Amino acid sequence: MLSMADTSAVATGTRIVRREAGADAWRVEADICVVGSGAAGIAAALQAGRLGRKVVLVDGLPALGGQAVNSIIGTFCGLFSNGPNGYQFTHGVADDILRDLGALEGALHYQRRHTVVVYYDEIALSRWIEEAVRAARITVIVGAVLRHVTVDGRRVRELELATRYGDVRVNATGFIDASGDAALTWQAGFPCREPEGGTVYGTQMVVVENIDEAHLPEIAEIGERMKEKGDAYGLLRRECFPFVIPGRGIAVLNMTHVETPLDPLKASICGLEGKVQADLAVHFLQQEFPECFGKSKIRAYGLPGIRQTRWIVGTQQLTLDDVRAGTRFADAVARTAWPVELHDHGTGHVWQTFDEDHVHYVPLGSLIPRESDNLLAVGRCIDADKAALSSVRVMGPCMAMGMAAAHALDLAGTGSVQQIDISALQDRLHDNLDRTD
Ligand SMILES: Cc1cc2nc3c(=O)[nH]c(=O)nc-3n(C[C@H](O)[C@H](O)[C@H](O)COP(=O)(O)OP(=O)(O)OC[C@H]3O[C@@H](n4cnc5c(N)ncnc54)[C@H](O)[C@@H]3O)c2cc1C
Repeated sequence: MLSMADTSAVATGTRIVRREAGADAWRVEADICVVGSGAAGIAAALQAGRLGRKVVLVDGLPALGGQAVNSIIGTFCGLFSNGPNGYQFTHGVADDILRDLGALEGALHYQRRHTVVVYYDEIALSRWIEEAVRAARITVIVGAVLRHVTVDGRRVRELELATRYGDVRVNATGFIDASGDAALTWQAGFPCREPEGGTVYGTQMVVVENIDEAHLPEIAEIGERMKEKGDAYGLLRRECFPFVIPGRGIAVLNMTHVETPLDPLKASICGLEGKVQADLAVHFLQQEFPECFGKSKIRAYGLPGIRQTRWIVGTQQLTLDDVRAGTRFADAVARTAWPVELHDHGTGHVWQTFDEDHVHYVPLGSLIPRESDNLLAVGRCIDADKAALSSVRVMGPCMAMGMAAAHALDLAGTGSVQQIDISALQDRLHDNLDRTD
C-alpha cells in the first residue's frame, strides 16, 4: 500500500480536449452487417463468419445475446421434433451451443414431455456467445442504436448508429435485420406489419433463488390456484411456467403479461409495470406454495421480454394454414414443430399443439423484405400472420433462420437475394431441413 510519502510514484498527467465541430463518425465496412444479437442474429453472424465473410454485429444494448440472455428467457424451444425423444431440427450453431453448454455442470437441462425443451443457464450462454464472437473475429458494436438507414434504390447502403462514444457508420454489401422489431427494415422505409385486433403480450421474466425443488408444484396446480385467487393478489396473468435446472435451487419464472408498445414513452412505463407484476407473482408463490417458495428471494429481473411487435412485409407471408398443413415450401429454409403460442389476452395464451410427426417450415420469401435486394429479416420479425409467427419465433427456428440468411447473402454476393439459386441454398441447409437422426 502507498503511504503519503510515496505519491511521487503516481502518474498525474492530464490533457485538455475538445470535440471538433463537425467531427465525423467512426466508419466501419463489412460484407455482412447484422443488426441484433439475439438467437437469430448470433446464428447469422457466426454463420457468415464461418463462410469467410467480414461481419459487423450491432446491438442497441451494451451486451450481446438479445432476449435469450438479457430477458432471461430460460429455455430453447422449437429445436426438436415432437415427442419425448424427438430428433433435432436445427444444427450448426445450435449443435455448438448444446455441446459446449452441455459440458458445463448445471448449464443445460433437457425436459422431455410433448417435445424436448432445453433449459439453459443464461450466464453460461452469454459467455459462450461472447467467446464465439471473439474467436470468429467478428467486429462487435454494442450500445449502438440504429438511427438512420441510407437506401439506394433496392439496396441498403449504410447504417448510422448512435453510441455513447459518438456516431458510427456501417457500410456493407448485405444486411440482416435481427432486431426483433424490424428496426432496420422500418428505418429503411420499407413496409412493415404490426399486429391488428389487439396486442401480443410480452413477459417480465424473474429469477428466484432459494426454492425447495423437492416441493415444486405442478404447472397445472399453480395455474388453478392463480385462477382461483389471482384477483386477491392483483395478478393479471393466470399461468406460471417455472424453469428449474435441477440442483441449483433457482427458478426462472414466466408468469406475467405485459404490453410492449413501440411508443418509447409507453414502453418505458410498461417496463416498470412489468416489474410490479413480477413482484406480485412472486408474492403469490411465496404465500400459496410456501414449501417450495416460502424462503425464496428475487435474484434477478430480465429486461422486458418482447414477443411480437412489428415485422416485415416479405415476398411471401407464412400463414396459420401453412403451419397447420406443414407446407414444405419450394424455398423452405427452416423448420420446427412448436405449437401456436399466441399471447393475445392478458390472462393466458392460445396454445395449439401438433402431432408427433408434424413439421412446419419457414420459406425464404418470408425473410426477404419485398422491396429490397440485399436485406433479410430473421427471428421474430419475419413475415407471417400473427398466429403463424407465434409458432416460429422461438429460438430453435430463430437460429435456423439466422444461418439461412447468412448463406443467402453469401450466395447473393453483390447481386439480389431475390435471385439466388434456391437449390444451392438448400444444399447448404440440408441438416436444418432434412436430417432426422
Ligand atoms: C417472455 C418471453 C418468453 C419466451 N420464452 C421462450 C422460450 O422459453 N423458448 C424459446 O425458444 N423462445 C421463447 N420466447 C421467444 C424468443 O425468446 C424470442 O422470440 C427470440 O428470442 C427472438 O430472438 P431474435 O433474435 O429474433 O430477437 P431478440 O432476442 O429480441 O434480439 C433482438 C436484438 O436487437 C436489438 N435491437 C432492437 N432494435 C435495435 C435498434 N434499433 N438498434 C440496435 N439494436 C436493436 C435488441 O437490443 C436485441 O438485442 C419467449 C419470448 C418472450 C418475450
